[in-house]
Amino acid sequence: MDPVEARRRIADAQSAAQSRLESLRAQFDVIVAGSEWTTDDDEHDPEGSTIAFERAKVIGLARDAEVEVRELDAAQERVASGSYGVCERCGSAIADPRLEALPAARRCIVCLRLR
Ligand SMILES: [Zn+2]
Repeated sequence: MDPVEARRRIADAQSAAQSRLESLRAQFDVIVAGSEWTTDDDEHDPEGSTIAFERAKVIGLARDAEVEVRELDAAQERVASGSYGVCERCGSAIADPRLEALPAARRCIVCLRLR
């Protein structure tokens, strides 16, 4: 795996994950601002439980995006240390199409199925 190409791919994925995170944070702010107009009584207010559900969904997606950003940081470190693209379980090279689709991949497709 060409380290220059690897870095470029990781950086692209990082900026995509970062902008997704920012948009989720903006959505969260909108939901919180909107919920100030309704009561906090989720049980008796159908609108309130919808907001709670939407809020939980956005928080979940934002956490996923945060994990992805961290994983991509770790991938950049592996490029620096020369271990990028090597399966952390079996030590074989991770197939290029897999790294292209998932630049932060730590395991080859065979080991992934073992999980
Ligand atoms: Zn493997």
